Amino acid sequence: MYYQRGRRKFKRAVVKHEQREKFLYYLVGLGLIPILFYLLTSWIDTFRFPFPPGVRWLGAGLIFAGDLLFIWSHRALGRNWSPVLEIRKGHILVTSGPYKFIRHPMYAAIFIIGIGISLFSSNWIVALSYMLPVIFMYLIRIADEEKMMIEKFGDEYRAYMIRTGRLIPKLRISRPFYKRYL
Ligand code: SAH
Repeated sequence: MYYQRGRRKFKRAVVKHEQREKFLYYLVGLGLIPILFYLLTSWIDTFRFPFPPGVRWLGAGLIFAGDLLFIWSHRALGRNWSPVLEIRKGHILVTSGPYKFIRHPMYAAIFIIGIGISLFSSNWIVALSYMLPVIFMYLIRIADEEKMMIEKFGDEYRAYMIRTGRLIPKLRISRPFYKRYL
């Protein structure tokens, strides 16, 4: 919601699957509601799974790390960001910050935060209602998002795809250092 501020100033040039994407966005939002029940009531407390405190603190660490990746991604993407599939007027291809290593650091962050929330809450309802819509959204959206980027940026995006992984950086087998001098 914070990053939605002022977003309307940037005119849209292309919109893909508008209704479907809005639906997915709200579905992910609905999945967050059980977190409020978990924090404010005892209604869903019986759905706990007994994780030891160490695992739960690992979850807290993942939430924190995921948040940092999320903020870093937003800073890199700037005005090119949108919660649905859109290309804006003057859209540029961002390949800096976390986008240097992976093509979808924001989705990666959302997954990392989700795993963190699942471990930290140790609650089935919280875990499933967060993770299932997010996985669903990702599976439906990802191919269309990359297709849209190829339509817009062509070979620039294709080359970018070769250098990067979707969610996990590609391992680059580096040349032995002395080859630089040969
Ligand atoms: N999939 C990315 C971005 C999510 S926001 C991530 O997980 O970090 C979705 C919007 O970001 C899309 O509408 C698309 O227009 C834009 N986008 C995705 N990758 C981009 C990139 N490398 N550079 C610029 N815009 C990008």
